[in-house]
Amino acid sequence: MTRMSKDNVGRFFAALAAERPDPTTELAYINAYTLLVAVVLSAQATDVGVNKATAELFKTVNTAAAMVAFGEARLRDAIKTIGLFRTKAANVIRLSELLVQKHGGEVPDNREALEELPGVGRKTANVVLNVAFGHPTIAVDTHIFRLANRTGLAPGKDPRAVEDALHSVVPEQYLRHAHHWLILHGRYVCTARNPKCAACVVRDLCLYEAKTSADVPASSASPARRPSHRGRASSARATGRRAPRRARRRGATSRGGRAR
Ligand code: SF4
Repeated sequence: MTRMSKDNVGRFFAALAAERPDPTTELAYINAYTLLVAVVLSAQATDVGVNKATAELFKTVNTAAAMVAFGEARLRDAIKTIGLFRTKAANVIRLSELLVQKHGGEVPDNREALEELPGVGRKTANVVLNVAFGHPTIAVDTHIFRLANRTGLAPGKDPRAVEDALHSVVPEQYLRHAHHWLILHGRYVCTARNPKCAACVVRDLCLYEAKTSADVPASSASPARRPSHRGRASSARATGRRAPRRARRRGATSRGGRAR
């Protein structure tokens, strides 16, 4: 995979910053505690779905102590529209108990302490550290992983490799908001299927081989409809579209066989 040059990485983030000067999370939250809960609930779920479930909940249950008092059964019922709600409810109650017992009910501004909480891994800790405490962390989710590899910005074989690669290339002045610029660009423009290259502000810097051209509407120029030569070849192998000549030969052999 070709990597984007250092100069172009700077231009890449300058373009994203100009497009969205003040990016932020789309999860609804009131304070650091409700942010932590919302991020835990958002695993394998959409921000919109989490926000729907927490809109009423967070009006009255917005501290660790209040969540412990609320209890697991009522929390399960409140978030039952979210995938894996039983496991998530158990984790939220347990992490709330630990916050009360070990941190005075406050969310710790500390990676190690965050990652000790049930349901909190590196990605969740990175989001909380970035959004609640202003640290220049980058939580590599599916959008950032795709974008970093696809564009040549920071290729890596797994989320941690991409996170490390991003930290080594993103200019310091962009690190604080890099997380949200990349997520929002991946969510709304550089989508998994049919990326909207014609409307993309980093199109000229992106190294994605199958990116579509600026003068062709993205909807009619998706990689699926305009595959690269390599794409056509592999697709053809998969679908057997290159088989006619072989099929004719097989047919001849077969007819010959029948003749014998
Ligand atoms: S040009 Fe296309 S593939 Fe490249 S970042 Fe933009 S939307 Fe994604």
